[in-house]
Amino acid sequence: TMGARKPRVVLYPSPGMGHLVSMIELGKLFAARGLAVTVALMDSPHDTSATGPFLAGVSAANPAISFHRLPQVELLGSEPPEMLTFEVARLSNPHLRDFLAGDAPAVIVLDFFCSAAIDVAAELGIPAYFFCTSGAQILAFFLHLAVLHGKSARSFGEMGQELVHAPGISSFPATHAVQRLMDRDSAPYKAFLSMSTDLFRSQGIIVNTFRSLEPRAMDTIVAGLCAPSGLRTPPVYCIGPLIKSEEVGVKRGDGCLAWLDAQPKGSVVFLSFGSLGRFSAKQTREVAAGLEASGQRFLWVVRSPPSDDSSSKKNSEKPPEPDLDDLLPEGFLDRTKGRGLVVKSWAPQRDVLAHDAVGCFVTHCGWNSVLESVMAGVPMLAWPLYAEQRMNAVFLEKEMELAVAMEGYDREMVEAEEVAKKVRWMMDSDGGRVLRERTLTVMRRAEEALLEGGESEATLAGLVDAWIRA
Ligand code: UDP
Repeated sequence: TMGARKPRVVLYPSPGMGHLVSMIELGKLFAARGLAVTVALMDSPHDTSATGPFLAGVSAANPAISFHRLPQVELLGSEPPEMLTFEVARLSNPHLRDFLAGDAPAVIVLDFFCSAAIDVAAELGIPAYFFCTSGAQILAFFLHLAVLHGKSARSFGEMGQELVHAPGISSFPATHAVQRLMDRDSAPYKAFLSMSTDLFRSQGIIVNTFRSLEPRAMDTIVAGLCAPSGLRTPPVYCIGPLIKSEEVGVKRGDGCLAWLDAQPKGSVVFLSFGSLGRFSAKQTREVAAGLEASGQRFLWVVRSPPSDDSSSKKNSEKPPEPDLDDLLPEGFLDRTKGRGLVVKSWAPQRDVLAHDAVGCFVTHCGWNSVLESVMAGVPMLAWPLYAEQRMNAVFLEKEMELAVAMEGYDREMVEAEEVAKKVRWMMDSDGGRVLRERTLTVMRRAEEALLEGGESEATLAGLVDAWIRA
């Protein structure tokens, strides 16, 4: 009715950069469709050097979205970052309850790491949806995790190179499962397992992908074939690809766009490894030698190596700016001057990928990076590092055919010769050209999915309409 308040949706992201970016984009779409949007932010267990300015920029640019910071919680012990996030979410439940109970929203949307909040939603009778910031194939895996758990008494770590088989997705070596799942007796494993069953308590799962990118996984999920017996799979909504629509809060690495302007179309290899990726000094020198030997143009985001004595907590802190003269092989910068540019720590990645000059992306296979590359029509060389990236790398190569893997990423070192060989293959071979064509086809499909009436746009419209009518 006229004058009625807009239905309100509360988004509850986890605080990592890769999770915030797409949840905020989802919030913008909701706001544009007439919902009132509030983002509830839990106390961040991580370094906020990148996310702080990002959130400040986003909130300044999007007055339609309001932000609510939940109070700090007291953490005991230092766990791997993923575990901390699960923990902070769990400890934040009383604060979340206070916040929601005051003015209950029509819907709450939860990041996977915020699965503990489903208890609060259930208690208050608020419909809860999950938002999967990775793809449908990763969702298919998590929906099936309890089944895999029940089938074997061994940890993924013990299974080693043995293949894991799950419905709807390519089989992958057990060592390639989500990083923190290697030991089934560990706290992170138990948290992920419990999250995976919480998925079935939701009203629906929203995924940052488009159906035609991952049709086999989607068909299998929707047919209920991933679920443990007796559990009904909630509806799954593919609404992507959502990539950040603007670079906000980033000052570093600005000069690289001007540099790209001066490079020929499709000629530059871009290397960037997510918000957290860092290499040892030795691995960094191998990459340098490989790029030099390849003879190709390159734009490379270099970070300082992790310090030897670092605990997992230290490693999640902001790394110091790298000392390039110390880190890179002697004379490297001089010898590659003009055809290569090294940026320290951070680049405006979305804009870099979208630049005409970029012809190849060497990526850690974080899902946002994958989607940014797809949306720019740039083929990928996969070099997964952490989280679910090894699975993404397998799926990108075997199922989606959008990437080729850098050999050695799962061993001690990716060697200089391999870097040179793969980069040359991508930039200058028939195989590379086929991969580029395929990527452009998928890019056009992604664009269509987002157009009015396209598969993702229509799915989102239907979901929001149902909320507004409810
Ligand atoms: N990013 C960036 N500049 C960098 C590194 C990362 O802008 O130098 C952005 C990138 O564009 C993406 C996000 O940070 O939007 C990383 O998300 P992704 O899911 O790829 O990886 P994660 O950081 O979660 O591992």
